[in-house]
Amino acid sequence: MRAVLVSAEVSPFAKAGGLADVASALPRALSELGVDVRVIMPKYRSVEEKTPLEELARFSVPVGKKDVECIAYRGRLPGSDVPVFFLGNDHYFDRAQIYGEGGGDYPDALERFVFLSRGALKLREELDWHVDIVHANDWHTALIPAYLRAGIGPSSARSVLTIHNLAYQGVFPWEQAATTGLSDELLASFQHARKLNLLRGGILQADYLTTVSPSYAEEILISGEELEDDLRSRRSELAGILNGVDYEVWNPETDPHLWANYSASDCGGKEENKRRLLDELGLDVDPSAPLVRMISRLAEQKGFDLVMASFERMLSFGIGFVLLGTGSPQIEEFFRSATEKYPRQVAALITFSEQWAHRIEASSDIFLMPSRFEPCGLNQMYSLRYGTVPVVCATGGLRDTVHEYNPHSKSGNGFTFRDYDAEEMLSSLRRAIGLYKEDPQAWMELRDRGMAEDHSWEASAKEYRDLYERALATRA
Ligand code: ADP
Repeated sequence: MRAVLVSAEVSPFAKAGGLADVASALPRALSELGVDVRVIMPKYRSVEEKTPLEELARFSVPVGKKDVECIAYRGRLPGSDVPVFFLGNDHYFDRAQIYGEGGGDYPDALERFVFLSRGALKLREELDWHVDIVHANDWHTALIPAYLRAGIGPSSARSVLTIHNLAYQGVFPWEQAATTGLSDELLASFQHARKLNLLRGGILQADYLTTVSPSYAEEILISGEELEDDLRSRRSELAGILNGVDYEVWNPETDPHLWANYSASDCGGKEENKRRLLDELGLDVDPSAPLVRMISRLAEQKGFDLVMASFERMLSFGIGFVLLGTGSPQIEEFFRSATEKYPRQVAALITFSEQWAHRIEASSDIFLMPSRFEPCGLNQMYSLRYGTVPVVCATGGLRDTVHEYNPHSKSGNGFTFRDYDAEEMLSSLRRAIGLYKEDPQAWMELRDRGMAEDHSWEASAKEYRDLYERALATRA
């Protein structure tokens, strides 16, 4: 079976969030299962810094009325034979950021991702690939299923669209619809609330749909960011497949970013990382006090209103607090001023740094992820492997992966709260801190249980492969 996965982000070449991790790990896992898989992404400025590139082809891509030049390059996913094809156009992609600077998307976002979506199919044609499955991801590539239906691409190929986050739909003024190059008939499914909505069209046109956890797949049929009716109409083609963890990248035993490596059988290195982190960040809390951390896009979805509303009470529990994140200017400002006010207890790194993400992962005791909604969430699974106990709102993928600690049966791997509410969050955080301080033995057992869990990609990649097979079986 031959599959092509198209994504706006792929780790380590360009990353804004979990999409990049999935678009890198899933193809490698599929390849290990025998699927012939290729990856296509834009050639952003960051790509050249990360990998040598080999020019492969030059061709033009229709974007609205324009024919836009594309230079395609070839590379591969590190640690694998999976080829990655980078579609280059400096006007669109030689920019400081992936999506935009100062909050919103670049104003020509529609053109940029029409170029990626049509360019991916044009590359296939130029190189004369046989393709069975085209796997699109999120709104950026949600036009691909409609392009296949329009005959732009092989008629025998089937499309799969994965929704990594329904909250981002790629919405543009309807007047820009011609940029897509689709006929009025196909465009009808892209109209929503008098706007052009790329994700809606993808949902209606893809052969199969997936989202990134079973619980989120159920939740979006009930409340789906105004697309629930469309999702319900595709219920029998929608699957929730939990994301996995790439343990090549997220493994405290081998992680090159850490000050000290460690494992479940010898956790001494975790203490060492914590000492170094407190030192580097100038935190002056008792090393035996629990260190709570958040690593996140600073977006409303991630529960920052709860954290900001109860921050001083959280600090009164006698914790150290570390944040790594960028995003909303208001949330950034809140944490900047919190570090000024509590320099010994709070550190905020307002930046995007892979190295700090790994270090903080390893150095902290408790991971707080109070998301209002969470399609899957990856950090809670990374935390489990790094011996950092998660405290989460039981929604979407967090509900599927974090289970409340039960002191009697000694089961569970973290602490959860059901209602999206600051008091509920504080109460589960208090339970975690209480156990950490009062019963170190039980804490260690809880931590070790999490470290021993296996969230690798293999099982999920098999589900994707089965879904690809089901899609292929629908070929006439
Ligand atoms: P989302 O995709 O909604 O952002 P996930 O938990 O699924 O949330 O994935 C987030 C990914 O992005 C994780 O790999 C996390 O470590 C990473 N990440 C988020 N913010 C930062 C940051 N400021 N620096 C480094 N990595 C970050």
